[in-house]
Amino acid sequence: MDIFIAPIRFSNTLLLKNILDELKNRFNSEIREINLQINLDEFYSKERGQYFSTQIIAEAISHTKLYDGKIILLTDVDIFVPVLTFVFGEAQLNGKHSLISVCRLHEEFYSGETNEKLLFERTLKEILHELGHNYGLRHCMNWDCVMHSSPGIEEVDIKGNFYCGNCVKQVEGYKYNF
Ligand SMILES: [Zn+2]
Ligand SMILES: [Zn+2]
Repeated sequence: MDIFIAPIRFSNTLLLKNILDELKNRFNSEIREINLQINLDEFYSKERGQYFSTQIIAEAISHTKLYDGKIILLTDVDIFVPVLTFVFGEAQLNGKHSLISVCRLHEEFYSGETNEKLLFERTLKEILHELGHNYGLRHCMNWDCVMHSSPGIEEVDIKGNFYCGNCVKQVEGYKYNF
């Protein structure tokens, strides 16, 4: 099954390239960048100063009928679901779409210091995590596993950038020994 990455209001082309290369190393699936014409403005909440994640995913569904595979939406803008202050990402469990925001994955957001390597690591982990949900995985109790729940940046940094032996069985096309 193919994996498509759709940057939407996403500016870091080097990060995108590095993520595409890394996913190509890790999956047997075709990995491809696609261009979706999604206008984020209508999903902006003035009260919160953020964009409503679930609505963006719902909108994406009507733009991706021609693509047979998983669709990863990647954005710079800060995203939320109503019950939470923010989310790093959201995915359809056993579905086709996920959305990842790098807004709060930037080290600048926390310490003011730029760290491109850390940004790549965090982005990779969040993409693998949301993809895992697409493949039907729920949160894993294993602290090392990328499917471990990570509501805050500390948990993102603690967990590994791989699926544990149990979770990996469900991820289609993943090369276990990459
Ligand atoms: Zn999750
Ligand atoms: Zn696991």
